[in-house]
Amino acid sequence: MLNIGGLHEGVVIDHIKAGGAMEIYRYLNLEKIDSSVAIIKNAKSNKMGKKDIIKIEGPITVDLDILAVLDSNITLNFIENDKIVKKGHPILPAKVTNVIKCKNPRCVTSSPTERGLPHTFKLTDAHNRIYRCIYCEQKFK
Ligand SMILES: [Zn+2]
Repeated sequence: MLNIGGLHEGVVIDHIKAGGAMEIYRYLNLEKIDSSVAIIKNAKSNKMGKKDIIKIEGPITVDLDILAVLDSNITLNFIENDKIVKKGHPILPAKVTNVIKCKNPRCVTSSPTERGLPHTFKLTDAHNRIYRCIYCEQKFK
């Protein structure tokens, strides 16, 4: 049973691979939200040995499905009135913009004259979790 630690309303991002919490914090831009955020590193896990957990208090305004792109083992626990009302893995979004970056040096997004162009990837193979850059088709892994 997950200890929601006095969280009245919010979300607990559980089963993050140990050491992965800061990367997720950055991807979700959590420094920009007003909610209180707690990061628990190296929590004991029966399934994983060690894991990280992020707890966000209050109404959730960030798109958490983005996490499916980064780590498929993550579990989201949505909490309302001190109870888990919804639990599950994030769902792979069909399209992600400015979350992951194209690393192809010949891609238009790498061109200095095209700075500011959004880095957009499309889910081309949900089973294998493959995203491709919409400009150059470079695979993100
Ligand atoms: Zn590209």
